Amino acid sequence: MEIKGKVYLVGAGPGDPELITVKGLELLKKAEVVLYDRLANDTLLKFCPENTELIFVGKEADRHPIPQEEIIKILIEKAKKNKTVIRLKGGDPYIFGRGSEEALALYQEGIDFEIVPGITAGIGASAYSGAPLTHRNMVTQCLFITAHESPEKNESQIEWELLAKLKNTTLVIYMGASTLKWTVEKLITLGMNPETPAIIVQNATLPSQRQFNSRLLNLPELVEKENIKPPIITIIGETAVFSDKLDWFSRKPLFGKKIVCTRAEDQSHSLTKILEQNGAIAINFSVIKTKLNKPSENLKDLLSKNFDWVIFSSENGVRYFFQLLNKENMDARALSNTKIACIGKETATRLKDFGLIADFIPSSFTSTVFIDEFLNSQNLDNQKILRVKGDFQKDYIFDSLINNGINTEPLQVYSIEKNLPDNKLKEKLMNEGADAYLFTSSSTVTNFFDVFGKNQALKLLNQSNVFAIGPVTRATLEDYQIKNIIMSETFSIEGLVNSVIQHFSKS
Ligand code: SAH
Repeated sequence: MEIKGKVYLVGAGPGDPELITVKGLELLKKAEVVLYDRLANDTLLKFCPENTELIFVGKEADRHPIPQEEIIKILIEKAKKNKTVIRLKGGDPYIFGRGSEEALALYQEGIDFEIVPGITAGIGASAYSGAPLTHRNMVTQCLFITAHESPEKNESQIEWELLAKLKNTTLVIYMGASTLKWTVEKLITLGMNPETPAIIVQNATLPSQRQFNSRLLNLPELVEKENIKPPIITIIGETAVFSDKLDWFSRKPLFGKKIVCTRAEDQSHSLTKILEQNGAIAINFSVIKTKLNKPSENLKDLLSKNFDWVIFSSENGVRYFFQLLNKENMDARALSNTKIACIGKETATRLKDFGLIADFIPSSFTSTVFIDEFLNSQNLDNQKILRVKGDFQKDYIFDSLINNGINTEPLQVYSIEKNLPDNKLKEKLMNEGADAYLFTSSSTVTNFFDVFGKNQALKLLNQSNVFAIGPVTRATLEDYQIKNIIMSETFSIEGLVNSVIQHFSKS
């Protein structure tokens, strides 16, 4: 019987999820089954369709690894069920990843397969640490070696004698935190210059990357002193010294800083992305979630009242408003005779996604400035206003319009609910702490205190740096007796990230 299933051995790259190839990513988007390793960044799995079967086949501290034969068996079984199967492997499938064994087994079974190369850890470590693998007139060849072999093994497959004598060469050593000592002794005994520059790169290409420059001789001592744990790549060769100039990655302003984002998951993506681009270890700790709120009056009837203005004050407001419109088979044209006011840049950007340009944005992104400038710049006599909002009780914008005698109707398009983050993550924060906590609304503050309990929350926050997006959020933090709050200068996500960067550049 013809097997219609197909297996793709896809290199996920060394760690940074953006280092997967376009081809690899496109395949993930249509995968039916994915078998993935520990070293393949699992954030890539969010690109898979919702019903993709995800099978973890890596090693975990509290579990035995799935044997290679078992992995091959699953690949074959799924392909025979006519599935599109992705075998997602760290780095490149054919570099020390047993990809070739898997491909040969598939060949033997007559199963169709393709190999999608990936950036191997050695290349990633080189680029992100600043130790080029070749350099004109200096290094003309490089070798990838796995030092997994145990020192007890009498007949090494690696020709150490030859390696120790190679000139103008970079050695890239995979594995071997524990075998490094033995490897170094062997190379030196066999004639390699003990002063050869070297660099160890741990967690290469990830925000948790650590890199250590040294000399061949000192590598074992370094591993012990710095408590360097796998995964590591060791690069031995003259170019390692360039890393003090070419270490662009570890010079990012937020490099290695653990920053906790508390806003809702569906919104935190844009925030965590900017933080990560600046080198931070962004921790998604959503303490709130938002939900579509179905208003009692149907939207078509409501909008037939011909509002002169509609006011949005959050991305959520825009997003859920359009969800409701679409549900009733309407689109942006429903607002064709209505002017649009919005509170800030992010809200305006979200409106643009729907083809709309805001008619009014205040000079500073707070409710008070919004009201001052809106009332002063617009003639609102006999105007009808629709205020699109969440289910929060106090709404300064709505209340102020009403107090000024302006005909305003509220429309609650979403509700904010408490979200309970993963318990493991919670424990991790309690044990390890973080460098900063970001709060983007009062509800993130109150729910953070709910999630941890008052004492624990106070302890975590007062030991760290606390950032508030604006004055209302800051006031809520102050109500909880939080000290040393840093407030962004402009009240937007961009402003918040800038204040975090500024803070850590100073310290
Ligand atoms: N196929 C993979 C290698 C698998 S062997 C690739 O092409 O990269 C596993 C070894 O790769 C680890 O022991 C470690 O030496 C190295 N490695 C993988 N990811 C790494 C990372 N992010 N940082 C440092 N070393 C890494």
